[in-house]
Amino acid sequence: MKTLKCSDVGFECAAVVTAETVEEVLEQAAAHARDVHGVLVMPEMAEEIAKKIQEG
Ligand SMILES: [Zn+2]
Repeated sequence: MKTLKCSDVGFECAAVVTAETVEEVLEQAAAHARDVHGVLVMPEMAEEIAKKIQEG
């Protein structure tokens, strides 16, 4: 399981994204960023986000 905390990406946000794969986490995180924060995740931003993804 992969986990990403929205707060680790720099938002003041308690949301946590979990998925089986990094790709799925990035997909969900991008949807969350767009819908909740009004931010479009660009490829270079996705790279930074991918580094914050934790195992477990
Ligand atoms: Zn968030």
